[in-house]
Amino acid sequence: IPRMQRGLPQKRNIKDVKKVIAVSSAKGGVGKSTIAVNLALSFARRGYRAGILDTDIFGPSIPTLLNLSGEPRLSNNNQLLPLSNYGLKSMSMGYLIPESSPVAWRGLMVMKALQQLLHEVDWDGLDILVLDLPPGTGDVQLTITQQLVLDGAVIVSTPQDLSLKDAVKGVELFKKVNVPILGLVCNMSGFICPSCNTSHEVFGPLHKIREMCAKHDIRLLGDIPLDAKICEDADRGKPTVVAEPEGQKAKIFGDITREV
Ligand code: ADP
Repeated sequence: IPRMQRGLPQKRNIKDVKKVIAVSSAKGGVGKSTIAVNLALSFARRGYRAGILDTDIFGPSIPTLLNLSGEPRLSNNNQLLPLSNYGLKSMSMGYLIPESSPVAWRGLMVMKALQQLLHEVDWDGLDILVLDLPPGTGDVQLTITQQLVLDGAVIVSTPQDLSLKDAVKGVELFKKVNVPILGLVCNMSGFICPSCNTSHEVFGPLHKIREMCAKHDIRLLGDIPLDAKICEDADRGKPTVVAEPEGQKAKIFGDITREV
């Protein structure tokens, strides 16, 4: 039955953007924004016109991760102009409100801000836009999945049971609205101890995530180790793919973009 007849609004495209991919996680703090920004940068490194849209209204991370700040300028037709660094265009609520002021908005204000981020940005022609979703399956995710044409979703999880169980719920949400699941990225998969040089599975064994993926017919796109350098890079606004473009981790991100 067509969406209109079911009383659902027609899904909308993001203007001037060829492909839109959502990066999602069930829990906060599993590295979703880190993965999203590194994927977007890997697309840019491969020659695509790439952008990242931070849809986390309450805790935007993209300005810090890309070392960008300041208010976006407006185009002639009053659209927000993205801020760019490392060859990547970006837009985030973090550019629109001062860092020090906590956002204590009610639902309606949040939805208004979200609509502005989704439909009032002048991307000026992108091959690929990565959406960094807030964690969980709340209002913002529902609005995005129900109202927007998404070409696919990438799920981020650690190998921990707690994170994996909820990741499955996120997968179900995308399946329900017919958004293809491109695959899962396992973050913080293992820690190579600098003293003894052996790998420790801090958040649980990788085979669990493989089993979960097989059970739910999800492709495991790759795994990123727990590494203090990733954390440092993030804090100084130089994501791993930029900080160590020829390093092993940049290669993993590059491989994932190829899979996607
Ligand atoms: P989320 O978007 O899921 O809330 P973030 O991307 O903000 O997660 O990451 C949470 C914290 O973990 C950040 O401090 C980030 O730098 C760090 N982090 C993410 N992935 C890794 C990793 N593989 N190794 C070490 N630290 C990581």
